[in-house]
Amino acid sequence: MPERAPLLLLDVGGTDIKAAVARGAGRELGPALRRGVLAHADSSGQALLSQLAGIASEVLDGERPGAAALLLPGIVDTRRRRAVFSANLGLRDAAIPDALAERLGVPLAFGHDVGTAAEAELAEGAGRDGAACTLVVVIGTGIASTAFIGERRVDVPGAGELGHVPVPGGLACSCGATGCLETIASAAGIARAYERLSGEAVQGAKQVLDRAQAGDPAAAAAWEQAVEALAFALHWSVGLLGVDRVIVGGGLSEAGESLLTPLRAALAERLSFMPAPAIVPARLGGDAGLVGARRLALALEASLDAEEERP
Ligand SMILES: [Zn+2]
Repeated sequence: MPERAPLLLLDVGGTDIKAAVARGAGRELGPALRRGVLAHADSSGQALLSQLAGIASEVLDGERPGAAALLLPGIVDTRRRRAVFSANLGLRDAAIPDALAERLGVPLAFGHDVGTAAEAELAEGAGRDGAACTLVVVIGTGIASTAFIGERRVDVPGAGELGHVPVPGGLACSCGATGCLETIASAAGIARAYERLSGEAVQGAKQVLDRAQAGDPAAAAAWEQAVEALAFALHWSVGLLGVDRVIVGGGLSEAGESLLTPLRAALAERLSFMPAPAIVPARLGGDAGLVGARRLALALEASLDAEEERP
């Protein structure tokens, strides 16, 4: 079998862009290139398109891809192939995927950054052995979630905003609401909670955890508040959907069992008669988006092959 052309993979998040090329029979991911998203003012994404084209030529280094995949943050409509809304990138109903495909002259698959990363985690990471209903929760600067019924992602524009459901103790949020989970339980929220309680500035949630483990009561209180708020939100998820596996990813998941053990206990305490879900760490780490983009590009390539074989 002749070697296939490489796949170009672009994962645009709220603050940075990751790019890689998958090559060879196993389509191994090459080294990821990481660039900050340049400040964009235009809602149609012209500046973003130029930046993506530049990054593509940098990572391809003269090679010609057979297919590509692009992931975008915010609210995306994969059926209409549009970036409907992105607070960080300023996009409003922008036809970025087709414009980029045309500019690069390559067939291009399109997906949501968090949703596609969660699909990769389900298929190739911590979800591999299957669950009836899985919730992937990504806790970083904010909190995003993706639900799966079996292997099928609940793919509705705007789904996955667990970070913006109200919890006891939640504060005024940048989204305009008050009480949102991520105001106290995201990595940034934990650091801010500690600063409010102690009057001292910290670098981030990791430092709060270190201080909690060293016996700092304000740090312990900030950490416990976050765990309780996460358990509160997960309780609703279990009651509503019967979630039986929760995969926790994002920067805060680097805390490992320091986060997961108290979270399991806090949730079990609330659930009374409902079965407790397995709560496990994500396995793909920061590359989940690129792994997911590779899945989209491979599926596109297969559908193009099938079209070619059709008489
Ligand atoms: Zn909010």
